[in-house]
Amino acid sequence: MKLLSRQQIEALSRFKSETYLTTSFFLNTDKSRFSKKEILVSAKNLLAVGRARLESLDLGKDKKTSIGRDLDKIADFFSQNMTANSQGLAIFSCQGEHFWEDIHLPHPPRDRVLFNHNPYVRPLSQILGRYRRICAVLIGRREAKWYNVFMGEISFIESLTSDVPGKIKEGGFEGAEAKRIERHIEAHLHDHYKKAAQRTFELFKKDQFDWLLLGCEDSFYSDLELFLHRYLIDRLKGRLKAKLSDPVDKILKETIELEEQLHMAEEAEGVRRFVSELEKGGRAVSGIKEVLRRLNQVEVQALLVTHNFTAEGKICPRCKFLYLEEAVCPSCQKKTNALSDVVDEAIESTFRSHAEVKHITPPSKLDHYGKIGAFLRYKI
Ligand SMILES: [Zn+2]
Repeated sequence: MKLLSRQQIEALSRFKSETYLTTSFFLNTDKSRFSKKEILVSAKNLLAVGRARLESLDLGKDKKTSIGRDLDKIADFFSQNMTANSQGLAIFSCQGEHFWEDIHLPHPPRDRVLFNHNPYVRPLSQILGRYRRICAVLIGRREAKWYNVFMGEISFIESLTSDVPGKIKEGGFEGAEAKRIERHIEAHLHDHYKKAAQRTFELFKKDQFDWLLLGCEDSFYSDLELFLHRYLIDRLKGRLKAKLSDPVDKILKETIELEEQLHMAEEAEGVRRFVSELEKGGRAVSGIKEVLRRLNQVEVQALLVTHNFTAEGKICPRCKFLYLEEAVCPSCQKKTNALSDVVDEAIESTFRSHAEVKHITPPSKLDHYGKIGAFLRYKI
């Protein structure tokens, strides 16, 4: 199935087995970046990571057998199902309970495989969190149409048609008569715009969309403040070129492009603020080593991490502190365990301390700062 809503994620997270663990498997299947063959290779590699981890786990025989069957079933799935046109896949499996869900994702996740008591749904929440509920409104001189756009899908909400007379032709009327007709048309047009704006506000009160995108006549746009409620102006994120007569696919395409641009602009702004904070010696650090040190001290307010950046590292089994290469925990002198991806643990640790994680799409300026950085809670 497709990832569509928060309810779907909540339903998944409610699954729990008293006897077995659940395997959560995430794979980047972005076909614009990887060939089918490369995707199959990364699936195989990730399954190998899973099998190695399973070997090293100190679990009862039944639990291990169930996880082993999860990994076998995932391998089968990839050998049969590589046609789907999604950017990523999430698979949750607990064969001991005959539980299986494969979910197609609209955005690539970090590659990972985990065994937990519940389906590990945080990556799904992260992906869902990327998307805004968008209301796309097209307002012409006689008509208006409203659409919902969410996670790359568009749905028509409703339309409005008003009785606005057409513009008068040059030379048809003279002087006062022409002016009178013009005023008459203007009054109708003004009414139509008011109705369209009012209806948009009613839809907003009902659906609370995050962003408003507007395709409209210049005469509406130049008097925007006159028509649109202040709440709507706050949510207005851009102007669409699409016309009322355009097919719905064209409206969707333009909306998605605009959404992506806005998202990239938000990311770029986050990186810009980070670099400026870093360069003035403010509350920010860069590079995996320094980020881990600050995470261990619970000083991180927000983590910036390049999408799919990974690094090997260590974790102290006692204090859970994260390190790049310490064989022994400097804090408690216990021998550390190896981690195949310390960045993944760093992201988890950030969430546990209720700090924010911002995923940055490469290439970005963050690449020059070791692909990872953090805003800090306190002055250094
Ligand atoms: Zn320790």
